[in-house]
Amino acid sequence: MDMQPAQLEAIKKQLAGLKERSPFYAKKFEGIDLDAIQTQADFEKLPFSEKADLRDAYPLGLAAVPSEKITRIHSSSGTTGTPVIIPYTQKDVDDWAIQFARCYEYAGVTPQDRVQITPGYGLWTAGIGFQAGCERLGAMAVPMGPGNTDKQLKMMQDLESTVLCATSSYALLLAEEIEKRGIRDQIKLRKLIFGSERSGEKTRQRIREVLGCDMYDIYGLTEVYGPGIGISCDGGDYMHVWSDYIYVEIIDPETGEVLPDGEPGEIVLTTLCKEGAPLIRFRTHDLSRIIPEPCPCGHNEHPRIDIIKGRSDDMMKIHGVNVFPSQIEEIIAHFEDASSEFQIRLSHLDGRDTMRLYVEAVSGMVDFADLGRRIGAAVKSKIGFTPLVKVVELGVLPRSEKKTKRVFDERD
Ligand code: ZN
Repeated sequence: MDMQPAQLEAIKKQLAGLKERSPFYAKKFEGIDLDAIQTQADFEKLPFSEKADLRDAYPLGLAAVPSEKITRIHSSSGTTGTPVIIPYTQKDVDDWAIQFARCYEYAGVTPQDRVQITPGYGLWTAGIGFQAGCERLGAMAVPMGPGNTDKQLKMMQDLESTVLCATSSYALLLAEEIEKRGIRDQIKLRKLIFGSERSGEKTRQRIREVLGCDMYDIYGLTEVYGPGIGISCDGGDYMHVWSDYIYVEIIDPETGEVLPDGEPGEIVLTTLCKEGAPLIRFRTHDLSRIIPEPCPCGHNEHPRIDIIKGRSDDMMKIHGVNVFPSQIEEIIAHFEDASSEFQIRLSHLDGRDTMRLYVEAVSGMVDFADLGRRIGAAVKSKIGFTPLVKVVELGVLPRSEKKTKRVFDERD
């Protein structure tokens, strides 16, 4: 994707004096003359930032403004101990709310709506972002936070909430509870806004079936404002990312090379006007791709990315093609005679990469050989190579309560 002229100007403005404002970037860009960055190609030579770099700056080493300018901090949950702390100026807080309000607008939310917010409030950026955007738009916020299903459903009925903000797993739980209690006709929900957690197509179908709402995917991460830097629209399942705030690149996670539009890879984000903690070429490890086709909604000033397909750590490379397990999962989800379980084994056979794909048939009535052929053909047409598909009986593939390991790379 070509950088828009305004984006290049914003980046140049941000880089000017950055090393003086920020000890973090003084170190990061040591020996690099930032004034010499004049084109997109120059920019693409700058080193990436990683979450680990941000963590090393704990607690406030990322700040690029004097302490009195910082009006809030947020923190991403550190699974490995030290969290990342992101300082925000008042302008950053306002900019985030502006972006989030735009998300609601793209989802067709209006000041008449009542927005039930179930993501958590606290150090992380979830609940408070949904809240600030909702208030900025002028809709009524119902700030529930997570959990307490009885109370959620009571408020949903009594306050006649029309919009639900939730993770897809919590939306599914609520949807199934609504179905179980037979109260769908007492629920006024018309829109559902998902957090950016990756959700399988089967989960979405199920939620759509029960609630019958329009569904929108919102994107963002704590390091870069929080959720709300982009959302899907009525023009399809892809997410627009706000080009006046964020510059998006897709890179090959192995080589770091910027990939052409349409090719899957890792999302790298640069903030264009963030003051408290600007981020330059931040590796998200989220997998997606830039959608080259224009959006039917007409907002082509904001480029679109695919919904998040997983983490770059899960990516496989086969015959030079990047593949993620979720692509296989999505293909299998379209076959009613296959279960949702699968296993991928990669090996090196006669000098060629080979993918063996194990899939379960839902019953013994299924023609195993035929199902295998149909899935193989679908993978070929969607991803570009033919795997060896082996259909097995239901229950043969291992299951686990946590994350099931699905990919085994047996190549040298
Ligand atoms: Zn659109």
